[in-house]
Amino acid sequence: METPILSIKNLHKRYGKVHAVNDVSLEIQKGNVYGILGPNGSGKSTTLGIVLNVVNKTSGEYSWFGGTQETHEALKKVGAIIERPNFYPYMTAKENLELVCKIKGINYSKIEEKLEIVGLTDRKNSKFKTYSLGMKQRLAIASALLNDPEILILDEPTNGLDPQGIIQIRDIIRLIASQGTTILLASHLLDEVEKVCSHVLVLRFGKILYNGKVDEMTTKGGYFELQSNSNDRL
Ligand code: ADP
Ligand code: MG
Repeated sequence: METPILSIKNLHKRYGKVHAVNDVSLEIQKGNVYGILGPNGSGKSTTLGIVLNVVNKTSGEYSWFGGTQETHEALKKVGAIIERPNFYPYMTAKENLELVCKIKGINYSKIEEKLEIVGLTDRKNSKFKTYSLGMKQRLAIASALLNDPEILILDEPTNGLDPQGIIQIRDIIRLIASQGTTILLASHLLDEVEKVCSHVLVLRFGKILYNGKVDEMTTKGGYFELQSNSNDRL
């Protein structure tokens, strides 16, 4: 068995009385597209924040690439978009990516290739402030791909987009996956996970409801029933 890209074991996060992540375990293997599915407040972003070292865990373990490197070193091979895309508004898309390359010590030659993947080649010389939300999101994906990460993590990348923008992002995720990059996608949309992911971790109130292949998932009805009272979680 190959070393997993990410291994999470019995992870917990408490915010006071809120048990945001409650005994979550997950193993991510190379080349698959994983979803973390759950309604608002189910612990998706907190789980991602912990493994990306921006949120402190309460207990449990996680390790990247078999745990042989320090987390900050391992995270250099991880591309993640967990916030709204934020670039310099008066710089062009290309200039923004050049800046990212400069800061991270990446060769500029990657820029054109990544702009092509996200379909922004034609608009690379437009200022970031002229971009639609979908284009901003796509630029963020291009930026996260600049150093050819082993895995791309996306937290609700289609939120707030129009139908066309949603389709574009999903097509890009599938394209990136087909090129061999492992994906971890947090979403509150069952249909999104079904369209994009091969594997899924379904969370409810921070707990695992299902962990396995998307096409073997049998708790879909249960997932929908539980969306309505997702805030009642104390
Ligand atoms: P999701 O991403 O699935 O919507 P989150 O991980 O953001 O869920 O949140 C899980 C739970 O933890 C929610 O009840 C949320 O209110 C709570 N939570 C998240 N971040 C914080 C925080 N910084 N302080 C207090 N509670 C938080
Ligand atoms: Mg979230």
